[in-house]
Amino acid sequence: MTEGADLATLMAAVMDDGSGTITPPIVQTSLFSFDSYEAFEDRMAGRSDAAIYTRVQNPTVAAFEALMAKAEQGEAAVGFASGMAAISSTLLAFVKPGDRIACVEHVYPDSYRFMERMLRPFGVEIYYYAPHQLEEEPELLNGVRLAYLESPSSVVFQPLNLKKVTAHAKRHGVLTMIDNSWASPVFQKPLAQGVDIVLHSASKYISGHSDTVAGVVVASQQHIDRIRDLTLPLLGAKLAPFEAFLLTRGLRTLAVRMRQHQATATLFVDRLAALPQVRRVHSPGPNAVPGLTGRSGLMAVEFDDSVDIPAFSNALRHFRLGVSWGGFESLILPARVGLAQIGEENSMQRFGVSPNLVRLNLGLEEAEDLWADVTSALATSTV
Ligand SMILES: *Cc1c(COP(=O)(O)O)cnc(C)c1O
Repeated sequence: MTEGADLATLMAAVMDDGSGTITPPIVQTSLFSFDSYEAFEDRMAGRSDAAIYTRVQNPTVAAFEALMAKAEQGEAAVGFASGMAAISSTLLAFVKPGDRIACVEHVYPDSYRFMERMLRPFGVEIYYYAPHQLEEEPELLNGVRLAYLESPSSVVFQPLNLKKVTAHAKRHGVLTMIDNSWASPVFQKPLAQGVDIVLHSASKYISGHSDTVAGVVVASQQHIDRIRDLTLPLLGAKLAPFEAFLLTRGLRTLAVRMRQHQATATLFVDRLAALPQVRRVHSPGPNAVPGLTGRSGLMAVEFDDSVDIPAFSNALRHFRLGVSWGGFESLILPARVGLAQIGEENSMQRFGVSPNLVRLNLGLEEAEDLWADVTSALATSTV
């Protein structure tokens, strides 16, 4: 994997401020002052690009953004206070009332809620499609402004052939945007597949330690400039310098962590499929679609009616009950619990997801310890 080496080269360049430090300094300041009236005026008139104010520009944040642009093979990046800030600020920069969005089904539930509760009341139309529809029915994109994608999707992890969808989108002049949190740039580089804008909840694999909430968007300079001009300054959901420092730390080990998540996930997929109580495992592997090169540690397992899901969840020792994912600790999120939070507008109900489904986040603990935990919990919760 050249991934690690590429990032290491850039990491060294980004840190090379002559001070000899090998981590980026945390520039904890709200504003940047100027040496003279003239320098100040030049900056305000756009004749220099010195930092003015941390809501729009900060060196620690810029170091992280440069690394993310490199990791996703994009021209530029912009950090945000959360994955949802990245999603909402990007959508609001590119859609207006009367526009149509084509959205893949089973997106992250709060992305779905943002579309339904925020964009729809402002007059944006949103249509949801299964991956095979987006791949095989290009006419669906006729008249659409933006295609909002996840591959694989949340909840049931359906992969999408990005090459096919972006080819249709280009023909219809549709802007494409993808949430790449699941695969991380280590296992999927959507810009290389023709997607216009890629974003992450950096709270997940990029942070990698369940200690940060953050987001990031990577795209062409032109698209990033539009976000920097409109929604970054005017909605103001900026990434903080300390969070950016933590994310840069996370990027150092991203490739190694993803390899470990993949090893554990592969072991789980094979063994889960062989259990009599398991109806289906939702976990796309390498080459499930072109451009997907690995299997991350987030998957869903559908049990049959013999498994008492609450008893199974309570019997687990390593897997903790909780939302989010992508850190060291393994987690379980039963579908029924997810439904309880989100209620009737949830896409799982709309699209008929089984209540016997559980989402597992396979962490970085010993794979055999995790597997022993699952089998012993199943032994006490199967009727
Ligand atoms: C968690 C998550 C988000 C939202 O990110 P936050 O950092 O929690 O705001 C978006 N997309 C996916 C796929 C996620 O799992």
